[in-house]
Amino acid sequence: MDINTSELDCLVQKYEELLTSTADTLWDYAETAYQEIKSCTLLKKHLCSHGFTLLPTSPQLPTAFAAKYGSGRPVIGLLGEYDALPDMAHPADCFLPTEPTSCLTSAGHGCGHHLLGTGLLAAALFLKDLMDKYQLPGTIIYFGCPAEENEAGKSQMLAQGFFRDVDAAFSWHPHAQSGIFNQSLANQRVSYTFTGTSAHASLAPHLGRSALDACELMNIGVNYLREHMPDNARIHYAYLNAGGKLPNIVPAKAQLLYAIRSPQSREAAELRKRVDRIAAGAALMTDTKVDIQTRCIYDSLLPNPSLDRLLLKYMKTFSPAIYTPEEVSYAAQAEKVLGNPACDMPLCTLPDLSLTRKTGISTDVGNISQKLPCTAFMTACYAKDTPLHHWTAVAQGKSSIAHKGMLTAGKILAASIWELLLSPEIMEHAQKDFLTEKVKRDIA
Ligand SMILES: [Zn+2]
Repeated sequence: MDINTSELDCLVQKYEELLTSTADTLWDYAETAYQEIKSCTLLKKHLCSHGFTLLPTSPQLPTAFAAKYGSGRPVIGLLGEYDALPDMAHPADCFLPTEPTSCLTSAGHGCGHHLLGTGLLAAALFLKDLMDKYQLPGTIIYFGCPAEENEAGKSQMLAQGFFRDVDAAFSWHPHAQSGIFNQSLANQRVSYTFTGTSAHASLAPHLGRSALDACELMNIGVNYLREHMPDNARIHYAYLNAGGKLPNIVPAKAQLLYAIRSPQSREAAELRKRVDRIAAGAALMTDTKVDIQTRCIYDSLLPNPSLDRLLLKYMKTFSPAIYTPEEVSYAAQAEKVLGNPACDMPLCTLPDLSLTRKTGISTDVGNISQKLPCTAFMTACYAKDTPLHHWTAVAQGKSSIAHKGMLTAGKILAASIWELLLSPEIMEHAQKDFLTEKVKRDIA
C-alpha cells in the first residue's frame, strides 16, 4: 500500500520548526569525531520526548546511542550521523572565502552531517506518528552513529553489537543532486610511525637516523606504486608528525597517515599490503623502525537492488524540487565562487534515477551494508557544483535549500519504510539481494 503523500506533507508541517532548528543547532555545535556530546544529547532529547526508548549503549562509545519505537519484526535501523570536520568552520550564508570567521569553533559541517542526523530524526518522527495512527507492525531504531569522518565509527558500533537483530538499515546523505548512493570506495586508514635516532644535524650527522627521511622515501615509493595499481584505486596521505621544527636536529620520530582506497574491500586490503611493504623498505633504507597501525577500515557499500528501487520510487514521487527565486539567486552566489557564474539554473531539481551510481567517496555505511540489508541515497541540499568537505558546503548548511533537501529525505525515508513495514515480500527480496551481492563479491 502506497502512502498518502499529503499526509506526509502534514507531518512535515507539524515537525518542520523542530527539525530545522535542530539541524541549525547541530551546525552551531560542529563537534568532531567522538566529541559529539551536545549533538547526540539533543537528538536523544527529541526522540525521548516523542516516545522513543533509549537502548543500552556502550561505555567505549559515549556519543553513540540507539532509540527505539514500536515492537516486533521487522526491525528497521535509521543510521543518523552528526559529526563535523576539523578546520572547516565558515560563517553561514557567507560566500567570501577570506571572510574572517565569526564561528566559535574551528570545526564545521562540511559534509552536512547536521542535516543527515536530523533528516533521519525526521523519518523517525514521521514514522512514529504513522505507526500510531495505522497500527503498523515492526520496530524503528534510530542509531546515533558518531565519528563517521576519519574514524569509521560504525565499525566500532558493529563490534559492540549495536546492530544485532536489525533486519534492514537506511541512511541518506546531503549532496548537490538527488540519487541513489549504493557505491563507495573501501578505505583503509593506516598510520606509519617511523622511529630513528636523533643527533645534531651538523655536528654529528653520522649518528642520526632520520624518521623524516623514512617518511619521504615511503611517499616516493608509493608515488611509484601509483603507476602499477588499478585505475580506480586511490592513495593519499598526510603528515601527522613531520619530525619537529628545527632543521639542525635529526628527527627521531615522524608519522604519516594514509588512506588506501579501492572499489572493493578485498582489493583495498591487497593494496594496503603493498603500501606496508614500501614502508618496511623505507625503514630498511634509513636504518629506522616502522610501526604500522590500522586506524580504521571503511568497507565498500553493498548495493541492495530491492531496497534501492524502493527509494528510487519515492525519490521520483517527491520530485521535482521546487525552489523560490530567492533560493535560486542564493545558489547562484555559490556557483559564482565555484567558478560557474553563467549557469542558468544553479540547483538540481530532478533526481538521477539510475540504479547504480559511482562515487569516489568512502562511508562507514558500507560496513553496515556488508552485515545486513542496507540502502542509502542523496538529496539536493546545495547549489549544483558544491563539493563536500569544502567551505561552500559549510556556508550553505543553514540555508532553506539545505532544509528543503533534508525534509525531502525525511519524506522519502518515511514513505519507503512505510511500504517496507507493510510488505514482507520486499523484506524477503532485500534479504535475498543481500546474500546474492555478498556471494558476488566473495564476502564472508
Ligand atoms: Zn559525509
